[in-house]
Amino acid sequence: MDFNSYLDPFLETLGREALQQVQLKKFQLMLDTILPRNAFYSKKFASLPIASPTDIRSYDELRLLPFTTKSELSSDQAQNPPYGSNLTFERNRYTRVHQTSGTTGEPLRCLDTEESWAWWARSWKTVYHAAGVTASDRIFFAFSFGPFIGFWSAYEGARLIGALSFPGGGMSSYQRVKSILANDISVLVCTPTYALHLAEVAEHEGLDLAKSGVKTTIHAGEPGASLPGTKARIEELWNARCFDHAGATEVGAWGFGCSAQRGLHVNEAEFIAEVIDPVTGAPAREGELVITNLGRLGMPVIRYRTGDRVRLSDEPCPCGRTYLMLEGGVMGRVDDVIIIRGVNVFPSAIENIVRRFPEVTEFAVDVLRRNELDELAIRIETTGNDAEVSAAIEKEIRAGLGLRVHVTVVPVGTLPRFDLKARRFNDQRTPRPAGVRG
Ligand SMILES: [Zn+2]
Repeated sequence: MDFNSYLDPFLETLGREALQQVQLKKFQLMLDTILPRNAFYSKKFASLPIASPTDIRSYDELRLLPFTTKSELSSDQAQNPPYGSNLTFERNRYTRVHQTSGTTGEPLRCLDTEESWAWWARSWKTVYHAAGVTASDRIFFAFSFGPFIGFWSAYEGARLIGALSFPGGGMSSYQRVKSILANDISVLVCTPTYALHLAEVAEHEGLDLAKSGVKTTIHAGEPGASLPGTKARIEELWNARCFDHAGATEVGAWGFGCSAQRGLHVNEAEFIAEVIDPVTGAPAREGELVITNLGRLGMPVIRYRTGDRVRLSDEPCPCGRTYLMLEGGVMGRVDDVIIIRGVNVFPSAIENIVRRFPEVTEFAVDVLRRNELDELAIRIETTGNDAEVSAAIEKEIRAGLGLRVHVTVVPVGTLPRFDLKARRFNDQRTPRPAGVRG
């Protein structure tokens, strides 16, 4: 156990029942503030048999409350532009606005007050603490610094830690590599994909990042940092320890990696997490993550369906924390499972296998239908022997996932590179099989 990495040693090691009581107390206080003022939730909860917020004293009673969904928030915002009716306070109490990427529709705008912005920073402080980041570190943020909240909250949290922060927005990848070396950076924050891309750029320029001062990398936006294949690759290229993190604009920075590096802890000081069967809504060990945030009173989410697929660990985490551990982090989106000839395949499972091959610098997966049969085709860029690498990947995927795939090699530098959320999976089947959304 590394007690230095605990932000709150008491809370982080509390027994489950006592921890739930702390959470429910916070939740009651939150309801007390929001219900008389927040039009969205007072309307949503109007018909419920809850006389007072203090009626919710257990997780069972919490489950009496309905779920909140992204589409609900989006349509509320469309009907009540520009910020919707999920506002607890007068507009002038809010000091920050951010928005989601909007890849699947109109972006969702989210507001924060000074208090809730401090709460975001505190959640990030937990992420840094657990990764062993201290005031003596120099952090580089390889982000574009647009209106996406992750950039700014990560940056704000670093200030609480007292580390020196370098905002790497508006720079080319090469300029970022040079800045990392010139400033003797010790911590890199970016997506897993982008950490690999920076290493590729450095190698192309004859620079060795394994010899840089970077000892820790923190990643979010994709499952990579908890996928053993991707994690090992990042750690080797950067000669650093790689930590996972997860959050969402409408929810908060809810997850953090620890020294055990086996997945994500839920920051249960600031969030209540449930895992449900995405079809029935019943509690489950593996399924969709549902989150209630406890510190964003100005624009809260209660029992929010994140769409993230997770699995609860059955064993206590070696780091000593009693906070929930999600084995393998976020495994993907509940609705991004690809069904190939009746076999459910998660994009992350394919990535995990492809990343075991250090010769592969980038890849893309195409799902096609030929002669009424589904086919999975993988395009790779490789620095190794074309025929050997493709044959080895085909073999590993057949052995690991029971799928026949066809791997082709394309010239280096021809596949798209991503600096935010990578989109390597292209389902080209029309119509897509029933039950597949997104
Ligand atoms: Zn742990």
